[in-house]
Amino acid sequence: MRNIYDYTLGELEDYFVSIGDKKFRATQVFDFLYKKRIEEPEKMMNIGTKCQKILQDNFSFEKIKLLIKQEDVDVSKYLFELLDGERIESVVMFHDYGISICVSSQVGCNMGCRFCESGRLKKVRNLEAYEIVQQILLIEEDIKKRITHVVMMGIGEPMDNYNNVMRFVKIINCGKGIGIGSRHITISTCGVIPGIEKFMQEEGQVNLAISLHAPNDTIRKEIMSIASAYDMDSLFQVIKKYIQKTNRRVTMEYIMLDGINDTDDCARELAKKLKNMMCYVNLIPYNETENIGYKRSKKSQILRFYDILKKENINVTIRREFGGKVDAACGQLRANNAFLKGEF
Ligand code: SAH
Repeated sequence: MRNIYDYTLGELEDYFVSIGDKKFRATQVFDFLYKKRIEEPEKMMNIGTKCQKILQDNFSFEKIKLLIKQEDVDVSKYLFELLDGERIESVVMFHDYGISICVSSQVGCNMGCRFCESGRLKKVRNLEAYEIVQQILLIEEDIKKRITHVVMMGIGEPMDNYNNVMRFVKIINCGKGIGIGSRHITISTCGVIPGIEKFMQEEGQVNLAISLHAPNDTIRKEIMSIASAYDMDSLFQVIKKYIQKTNRRVTMEYIMLDGINDTDDCARELAKKLKNMMCYVNLIPYNETENIGYKRSKKSQILRFYDILKKENINVTIRREFGGKVDAACGQLRANNAFLKGEF
């Protein structure tokens, strides 16, 4: 039985029509699931007992399970257990403009970025849309507040799970459901070109972020396997096409790794590459992990890097640091708890 949280409104409407019921039932069910947060069909009061029974008999209402929560001042990290026992994580960040959640899209990741904890545990499987939706529901239930922004920057490569990720976006974007605006949703990719090509054909205004992390192919190949599959020229070509088609600004994520990609020359080269591109650069102080040897760039060097880009008229920000204490870098919580499952 398919999980009820895996359905878009349109699909649920089709379902009710196909069994000879009213299309409007779907809106009612969405309202119970996502607005009133009622999780059991028997508590959905005005849909009638026949419809309650249909829901019980034909859909699964099971939820993923919250295992561990780590809290810091303005960030909390959650480890979830899926119905098959696999584990994923999400991070919640409290900003002055709202509350953002960073969700996982896969169990593990095959992209093999050398600085990233997620990739040390290879991809086990893709997440279903409902497993991504439920990360939001469970966290909202825990914090008793509404999440305003969603970024797909947890474990996994969204473009490697394209259909489920787009289904997830459709479900949470639906005004009759959770209703998170598409401009408040960001998909981050390490640069899977076919995925970006497809993404630019989608309707809606979902943001695109690219994990660039280097000013040239030599450095990029050193730290990211994907760079060997798609070189930067091709990547930039497709990004420019995306910008032209959507007229949307792209975010370039750039992790600051001490002595690897953070020199003044790197900054100048990056500025040259990004000149006149509708994008902004987000410099991310690397979150060190005990399992990987890379070091975070010195604060002074991050500021120098920032200044060089700024002087070249590149839009740039330095990511506020979250979660140093809570294993907040991608994949850390799962990796550090892997022993619980006997993976080490
Ligand atoms: N696969 C997608 C999304 C997941 S990673 C992508 O690559 O974009 C989300 C972001 O976190 C990426 O930019 C990734 O490079 C970055 N990241 C991974 N490990 C990190 C660490 N230890 N410190 C800071 N950022 C990290």
